[in-house]
Amino acid sequence: MAANGEEQQTQAGRHQEVGHKSLLQSDALYQYILETSVYPREPESMKELREVTAKHPWNIMTTSADEGQFLNMLLKLINAKNTMEIGVYTGYSLLATALAIPDDGKILAMDINKENYELGLPIIEKAGVAHKIDFREGPALPMLDLLIEDKKNYGSFDFIFVDADKDNYINYHKRLIDLVKVGGLIGYDNTLWNGSVVAPPDAPLRKYVRYYRDFVLELNKALAADPRIEICMLPVGDGITLCRRIK
Ligand code: SAM
Ligand code: CA
Repeated sequence: MAANGEEQQTQAGRHQEVGHKSLLQSDALYQYILETSVYPREPESMKELREVTAKHPWNIMTTSADEGQFLNMLLKLINAKNTMEIGVYTGYSLLATALAIPDDGKILAMDINKENYELGLPIIEKAGVAHKIDFREGPALPMLDLLIEDKKNYGSFDFIFVDADKDNYINYHKRLIDLVKVGGLIGYDNTLWNGSVVAPPDAPLRKYVRYYRDFVLELNKALAADPRIEICMLPVGDGITLCRRIK
């Protein structure tokens, strides 16, 4: 009986459904992280952007505050200066990046949707970091094709964050591997894809989760087998795979 009670309690404490923001044991544990070490140290501008984004109908797409904090520290640790972001939305990860890189640092930011970027832009401007951002509206793949036409872009990026259309990640990787410098990092976001990477074939997944799942599985296999990079898959946010170019 005691075991049953304990099991029931454990079940109740776990996610009913694996949320996109947390792959931890319980929502309470995730909340603890946010309240203890993330929110108290979140820069005012990121808090404001997070709150504006929360009111937007597609807010599920935003980078979570704990991942924003992680990216910010990671960029400082690697002394990133020339960076790229594919998939901006309202700009939470973009702002985390812009705040981390030096005043003469650069972010080449791409998104098919400029309207959402413009929602966050006044906050980014107020934070005094908008001058670091070169936002380009449109699909990322043709823009990357243009970049790789020019050899001077090869090995020129310290950090690249990929957080857009999951069905193109492998295509992005083929190009980004030449654009990131040896020793530089590419971060592929959402590589645990709502936990669906381990869901049984008949699991009731939301349509978009099911659709992109196979692409994420393929990407994860391809990254694990790529000898040009070292990888580290972290259960932060919805899973982020860091790839360090080694050749
Ligand atoms: N990094 C963002 C943040 O911190 O809020 C979240 C990005 S959101 C998950 C994905 C974004 O990718 C959307 O804003 C979408 O418009 C953009 N996107 C989708 N397909 C794209 C493509 N082919 N090229 C560039 N951006 C694309
Ligand atoms: Ca993401």
